[in-house]
Amino acid sequence: MSVIVGGLSGTDVVGRTYYFKKNYLGKIVTASTSDTWYCTDVYGYNETMNILGFTTQDKRHVFCHEIGHALSLDHVDSTIYSIMHEADILPVSPVSYDEDNLVYKWGS
Ligand SMILES: [Zn+2]
Repeated sequence: MSVIVGGLSGTDVVGRTYYFKKNYLGKIVTASTSDTWYCTDVYGYNETMNILGFTTQDKRHVFCHEIGHALSLDHVDSTIYSIMHEADILPVSPVSYDEDNLVYKWGS
């Protein structure tokens, strides 16, 4: 996993995770979320976050959320307190729900 502090996203997107796999020639190519990944790149668009008035805490949430995607966590609905929530609830480190999911997916 690479974590990249980027500049402008060009949209209101503040973070994104890109997934890669090796093709039959061994070349690293873009993967979908349903593939088995070879590696991931996590981007946080710092200049975009600055324009949108993100605090340091907000930025930590963005990176924590994107790293969650890189560890194969998906979004959760609005009733669950998690780093994988998309909107207003902003934990800046994994909470028990996330820790349970990570243990379920990756072991203890
Ligand atoms: Zn997300």
